[in-house]
Amino acid sequence: MAARIIDGKQVAADLRNEVSSRLLRYTVKHGPIKLVAVLIGNDPASKIYAQSQRRRCLQAGVQHDLVELSSSITQPELLAEIDRLNADPSVTGIMIQLPLPREIDEAAIQYRIDPYKDVEGVNPANIGLLFYDHGIIAPCTALAVQELIHRSGVTVRGAEAVVVGQSGIVGRPISMFLGAQMATVTSCHVATRDLAAHTRAADILVVAVGKPHLIPGDWIKPGAVVIDVGINSVQQPGPDGKPVRRTVGDVHFESAREIAGAITPVPGGVGPVTVAMLLRNTVEAAYKQLNREL
Ligand code: NAD
Repeated sequence: MAARIIDGKQVAADLRNEVSSRLLRYTVKHGPIKLVAVLIGNDPASKIYAQSQRRRCLQAGVQHDLVELSSSITQPELLAEIDRLNADPSVTGIMIQLPLPREIDEAAIQYRIDPYKDVEGVNPANIGLLFYDHGIIAPCTALAVQELIHRSGVTVRGAEAVVVGQSGIVGRPISMFLGAQMATVTSCHVATRDLAAHTRAADILVVAVGKPHLIPGDWIKPGAVVIDVGINSVQQPGPDGKPVRRTVGDVHFESAREIAGAITPVPGGVGPVTVAMLLRNTVEAAYKQLNREL
């Protein structure tokens, strides 16, 4: 039987509804919530992403400023800009669009964002606090994956969970979340010797690598919940034979859906839920700033 498709757009819409009442309560009592996105240089993909986020924020009732800076900005100048935003009480959320110019040290920039305004949860202080299950703000994609697993209805406690990919703000926090919920977690990466042997044992399989169709259907345990985080742009022959660009995941969706119990599509799975989580983090960050509680 074909897998149930976990509809990320629907989950995102539900989350936005839940956020809107929290947002309204905050703004009535404390004033507007404002997210500032800092965009450096002219990367077209980053610009499109920033503008779609801006639309989502404005639709929800969150103020949004897009600060566009030249790609020739120096590290001290960018740090000074972050200090200015940290100190501005009207700014409740800050995010830095990636990629940054090569000369800028990404970790140093992420470190500088006030952890209470770090709506993407990328400040190493926020990532570190996750280790103690006590974070201020967690990374949006890891939260999105957690939500999608929850909505799949699978029992996480005692499940064999395999996370492929162990980047600092995606794979590792996902492994930590699953471990905290008492799954038995295996973390796989580029040096894993027999990846298929691990993925075939997974009741819950999360793939966050960035390699199109890395996981074929016959690497999946029958009935497993599969969460595909990957976003890959590939060229494929269109209906008239001419090549067309398509976005695909790290899992081979067509074969995987015949085996899995539930699966997220790409696009329309983790992506929209991540954007909704950014909105939720933006609102929750504003609440946390009221008394700077942990
Ligand atoms: P990354 O490059 O930082 O990390 C990739 C990880 O995959 C590394 O841990 C590496 O060891 C592992 N890896 C590489 N090749 C492998 C292989 N052959 N077998 C097993 N593991 C392998 O990437 P990232 O930032 O974690 O992003 C991963 C993917 O998720 C990308 O496609 C990215 O675009 C996507 N992404 C999606 C969202 C979303 O909202 N849907 C958010 C963030 C990232």
